[in-house]
Amino acid sequence: MSLLSITDLEVHLPTGAGLVHAVNGLSFDIAGGETVGLIGESGCGKSTLGRALLRLSSATGGRIELDGQDITHLDAKALKPVRPKIQMIFQDNAGALNPRHTVGQSIGQPLRLAGWSAKDARARVYELLAQVGLPKDAYDRYPNAFSGGQRQRIGIARAIALNPKLIVCDEPVSALDPSVRAQIINLLKDLQQRLGISYLFISHDLAVVEHIADRVIVMYLGQVMEQGPRGAFWKQPLHPYTRALLAAVPSADPDAVRTRTVLQGELPSNLSLPAGCPFQARCPLATDLCRTEKPALRRAVSGNDVACHLVEPAPLLQSKSIEETTQCPAP
Ligand code: SF4
Repeated sequence: MSLLSITDLEVHLPTGAGLVHAVNGLSFDIAGGETVGLIGESGCGKSTLGRALLRLSSATGGRIELDGQDITHLDAKALKPVRPKIQMIFQDNAGALNPRHTVGQSIGQPLRLAGWSAKDARARVYELLAQVGLPKDAYDRYPNAFSGGQRQRIGIARAIALNPKLIVCDEPVSALDPSVRAQIINLLKDLQQRLGISYLFISHDLAVVEHIADRVIVMYLGQVMEQGPRGAFWKQPLHPYTRALLAAVPSADPDAVRTRTVLQGELPSNLSLPAGCPFQARCPLATDLCRTEKPALRRAVSGNDVACHLVEPAPLLQSKSIEETTQCPAP
């Protein structure tokens, strides 16, 4: 059984400009101990989805099941025993920690709210500090005494305090230096192995997602464009949007001849969704069918699920390259 199961989830947010269609009919599962990477451009609905899973934003439609329980519309009282099971790690670790609270108070707060005694909470915080690689004397210090990477360790300690089953990691390493980024990713992987936690890892950094995720989902205008297991996803991406995202990742090989697909235009407004394929306005392969009929998410030969009229049956994508091949030197 899946730990998390999302079915046809919709999150529409009222704003001064109108109703923002942030998440539109999203369905996917996360198994116990699995890491699912969620990628897409800024504004594609990734963070809104994360907030909806924690019930910080309300679902407009669809269903969220956690550990076999439908939590989509639970009220505050019914949510209380559910909250320890799902936690979040934020990108802005400085903003997520109260500067007037010591590290001990910040990490211990969820424990105290859950009814732990002061003595037991203190002992548990010491244990958590050791688990995330911070010294015991961090307990009495304030967040501003720590570096960005150390503050992220504090955020992780707080997130795992109540032994959650799922953690939503919202761009957890985007603001960190590359060397610190690797340390935090390794810490997350280590904690997962020891504690069996599942992660929904939200990021626009494809290199990081490739390193950590067992499965990848590509989102565009609040919808899944492609999803697949680690091997098939990176080896044979099929959706034009996925291929454009992957082609934009800089190569570490200075001699590499790069195949580049340039994404034209901006992410369209999600105040009103286009008919047909959500990606049609930027897709170099769009046809009349794409403008009138929305492609269903279907299993391709590669093993990925893809929402594109050209992918099933596969021959057209195989014979017609969407890439504009250029002999450009890698940066
Ligand atoms: Fe492009 Fe059409 Fe496929 Fe959408 S369905 S990605 S517009 S080819």
